[in-house]
Amino acid sequence: MQLKRFTFSPFEVNTYILYDKSKECIIIDPACNNKQEQDYLLNFIKENRLKPVKLLNTHCHLDHIFGNKFIADTFNLETEAHKEEENNINNALNAAHLYGIQMKEPYPIKKYINENDLIKFGFSELKTLHVPGHTAGSLVFYNIEDNFAIVGDVLFKSSIGRTDLPGGNYETLISQIKTKLFNLPEKMNVYPGHGPETNIGFEKHHNPFLNDEKYT
Ligand SMILES: [Zn+2]
Ligand SMILES: [Zn+2]
Repeated sequence: MQLKRFTFSPFEVNTYILYDKSKECIIIDPACNNKQEQDYLLNFIKENRLKPVKLLNTHCHLDHIFGNKFIADTFNLETEAHKEEENNINNALNAAHLYGIQMKEPYPIKKYINENDLIKFGFSELKTLHVPGHTAGSLVFYNIEDNFAIVGDVLFKSSIGRTDLPGGNYETLISQIKTKLFNLPEKMNVYPGHGPETNIGFEKHHNPFLNDEKYT
């Protein structure tokens, strides 16, 4: 499996395209919110002769769904996310208004993803974890053999997702990261929804929010 990262919008959201030799690809958190960013994404797909077959959201905060409608319409795809993200979809226009951002009403979630669901495309397969705390329906997509996890806003390099927005809970986030994400191999690469990549072992030992020894 190959992974391509784009960083879009003033929120600097990481959008990921995963693809393999079949040329099928999936798009995770399309955050392109103007024509230039849309064209950039389309050009990559065209140049690599890829065929998008799925549109996934790690979660449905405004900044992660900017490009949902564009991708859904362009490639005739349906939004897939956790059911608990419906509130965020419904609040997106209000949130956009607060930030002074122009946005069309996003499509509802058409297909629900649950923990342990397998996401299949081409010759590839991703596993799913449900890791609430940043939002109620945050998902992590990972593949052990290819050694990577796409974690949305659950975990960042040396930080964690904010927990002060509706559906967020600090204690839940900490315990969910420790019991679920930290069960993944230490060498596994972690691709967050914002900022640079990291790996499970580094965060286990150095993340100030998650490294208990720091406080003893
Ligand atoms: Zn978020
Ligand atoms: Zn975000």
